[in-house]
Amino acid sequence: MGYIPYGRQSIAELDEQAVLDVLRSDWLTQGPSIEAFEKKVAEYCDVKYAVAVNSATSALHMAVAAAGLRDGKRLWTSPNTFVASANCALYCNADVDFVDIDDKTYNMDAALLEERLAQAKLGKGTLPDVVIPVHFSGQSCNMEQIGALAKEYGFTLIEDASHAVGGSYGEKKIGCCQYSDMAVFSFHPVKIVTTAEGGMVLTNSTDLYEKLQLLRSHGITRKPEQMQGDSHGPWYYQQVELGWNYRMTDMQAALGCSQMERIDAFIAKRREIAVRYNRELAGLPCRLPHQDAGGESAWHLYVIRVAAEKRRAIFEYLRQHEIGVNVHYIPVHTQPYYARLGFKQGDFPIAEAYYSECISLPVYYGLTEEEQAVVIQCVKEALLL
Ligand SMILES: *Cc1c(COP(=O)(O)O)cnc(C)c1O
Repeated sequence: MGYIPYGRQSIAELDEQAVLDVLRSDWLTQGPSIEAFEKKVAEYCDVKYAVAVNSATSALHMAVAAAGLRDGKRLWTSPNTFVASANCALYCNADVDFVDIDDKTYNMDAALLEERLAQAKLGKGTLPDVVIPVHFSGQSCNMEQIGALAKEYGFTLIEDASHAVGGSYGEKKIGCCQYSDMAVFSFHPVKIVTTAEGGMVLTNSTDLYEKLQLLRSHGITRKPEQMQGDSHGPWYYQQVELGWNYRMTDMQAALGCSQMERIDAFIAKRREIAVRYNRELAGLPCRLPHQDAGGESAWHLYVIRVAAEKRRAIFEYLRQHEIGVNVHYIPVHTQPYYARLGFKQGDFPIAEAYYSECISLPVYYGLTEEEQAVVIQCVKEALLL
């Protein structure tokens, strides 16, 4: 049957054609495919603005910069995430801290966040300027509660929705920014839809949108209303901020547009696989993913928890049988770089305990029923080792 990875892209002929069409056109970058892709995602999520960039890492960097994060400011995120969710603070010379996760959803614990904020207000710590909850595995955080805290404590709320395009929260799609200032998507090939490398920032704020557009491209503007003084002529541009080159290419955007045509099919298939795993793995010595009512996960990941002392043997058994299981995530604060910043083992015990037990099973659009059966069979064998 061959190696079954934990995630992979689905590329159809229409995707290939979309990329070829761009290659044969006049615009390989800064062309019409970018806006078309942005419009498509914005409409899908029912959000006003979208800014496509070359990765979610860049999107996070731009989003926190647009939020004014800099030296002396502070960002809080989840320890159970990819390092990029925290690194964006360090790019801006800001401080980073973490709020431990909920033991059921593995998302940032909103009640713990509330507690930490209340304590900081009483002088036992510093209030954050930016908070980045991460919609782990594609399931939304408790945005209603976190959004209310953002209002009360005045921090900028940025959703790291890298796992979650196509998921929903309440009646609305994740990315609509109903409770947040901005949301970020990733289009890496293991995520829900892909542009090879790519990311996006979504917002309903015109002010943030204009800042993000500047930051994506060196801080340069060609709009007279953003300039100081008069234009010198039709060639003229001004650099009014310090930005970067975080642009997405038109080949990537065209691939993204084409992929968005199939997003609902991608999500439906992932959900179907999750339902099958839930059914066939029930009753075994492992904990299955919990789903909160009132939302639908995008199922970027399907994570089971096993006894910590058996996790390694189970993992190795599955890898030996060509099941490409993975572990998400090594808590960010335990990384050596973060240890150098003063974090240590024991700082966020729920994320650490979760890490010692978690295994991500394969889930992606192209995973066939036979492959699912092989995964299920091997997991059963491994759990009974
Ligand atoms: C994948 C991922 C990122 C980074 O995405 P890139 O597009 O690879 O830069 C950031 N945050 C989370 C939670 C991710 O899973």
